Amino acid sequence: MKKEKIVIIGGGFGGLNAAKSLKKTGAEITLIDKTNHHLFQPLLYQVAAAALSPGDIATPIRGVLRKRKNIKVIMEKVISIDRKNKKVILKDDEIEFDYLIVAVGSRHSYFGNDQWENFAPGLKTISDALKIREKMLYAFEKAEVAKTDAEIDKYLTFVIVGGGPTGVELAGAIAEISKKTMRKDFRRIDPSKTKIILVEGENRILTTYDNSLSKAAEESLKQMGVNVLLNRKVTEINSEGVQIGDEFINATNVFWAAGNQASPLLKSLNTEQDRAGRIIVDNDCSIKDDANIFIIGDAANFKNGGGKTLPGIAPVAIQQGKYVADIINKNINKEDRKPFKYFDKGTMATIGRAKAVLQIGKFKASGFFAWLTWVFVHIMYLIGFRNRYMVMSEWVWHYINMKNGIRLITNKQNN
Ligand SMILES: Cc1cc2nc3c(=O)[nH]c(=O)nc-3n(C[C@H](O)[C@H](O)[C@H](O)COP(=O)(O)OP(=O)(O)OC[C@H]3O[C@@H](n4cnc5c(N)ncnc54)[C@H](O)[C@@H]3O)c2cc1C
Repeated sequence: MKKEKIVIIGGGFGGLNAAKSLKKTGAEITLIDKTNHHLFQPLLYQVAAAALSPGDIATPIRGVLRKRKNIKVIMEKVISIDRKNKKVILKDDEIEFDYLIVAVGSRHSYFGNDQWENFAPGLKTISDALKIREKMLYAFEKAEVAKTDAEIDKYLTFVIVGGGPTGVELAGAIAEISKKTMRKDFRRIDPSKTKIILVEGENRILTTYDNSLSKAAEESLKQMGVNVLLNRKVTEINSEGVQIGDEFINATNVFWAAGNQASPLLKSLNTEQDRAGRIIVDNDCSIKDDANIFIIGDAANFKNGGGKTLPGIAPVAIQQGKYVADIINKNINKEDRKPFKYFDKGTMATIGRAKAVLQIGKFKASGFFAWLTWVFVHIMYLIGFRNRYMVMSEWVWHYINMKNGIRLITNKQNN
């Protein structure tokens, strides 16, 4: 009898959880990812801020699935999906499928100004984080040998565009490293005078959180020396700095945390997409007219009961991965499938050492308790004992003596 073929594209939160939950031992399962690792994106900003090493938050996919003998892992970029012939197209190969799970995540979007990426890197991958880390550390080195005060000022001005969780976390982490960790490391410049500006287009940061938590986060950032600009839109970014309304800010360090765009691969599915390029899926995560093609996680626009699109966060991807695996395990026909139901375990963002905000349904908290919960949850969700141990020990070390350990510049050409 012909073996059933299940293909998963993406080894992120959605794809990896789908793979781990597939129980069909008789099926031929292939997981394809363009990288060789699963990345724990929620802690990426800590790699960018020199607090963690890339290896602490990334795990080889092959290693995670080594005991699953019927799962083949391929490191390749999927170029397109041929729905008609049920094939996934790679550069030099094609892979047939009976079931397809697409979990390709998203990239940052510059809202039609792609040239800004040259001056304002975003944060999605390990190489993005390393680029930001090098740019940030290199700026302090350049400032130390700069000839004029204006030059020093330009190197020691950091602008972060976007006041969502990533922008808030990055701004807090840069404030900590400059104003505390590196305060005494230089002879000429004073890193504690670093200007950190967080720009948000809306009238508050963390807009998906309750108003009171936005205020608490803003207050914490201000206490850490971050200048929060609200209701301000960035209209230009170049090598000299950022134009924000009528004001031009001279800065060599501009980081982008403002928007998301789904993978261009999704276009080849030829089905309805939203403005961010996500596929609009049915309530079983499958696409229109193709009950055995599922789109999950950041790549999907899934409308829950109230008609609201589920947010692009890890728990949504994880739960959808497990849900579609269950449908495939049991060969459930489209008409018999129970709709996917998202169980909201809450959201949280950290602002710096011992400060965070947390929202679980109607329960809200900020400060030390929220931060402890944040620490606990992130350690729990990291993959592998080694990574949990390494991250925990780095955090304890950092908590005690405020030293970020990974302050290395290894690739000067990036700057
Ligand atoms: C900086 C940052 C901070 C975040 N913080 C939080 C947080 O605190 N809490 C939270 O819940 N969520 C957070 N998120 C969001 C969360 O990480 C995403 O929602 C989650 O990763 C989505 O999972 P996914 O499986 O859809 O995609 P991903 O985890 O992004 O995985 C997609 C995978 O697909 C692969 N891929 C993409 N295109 C192709 C292709 N053409 N061929 C082959 N492989 C491909 C990629 O290499 C990747 O491994 C954060 C995200 C970022 C970027």
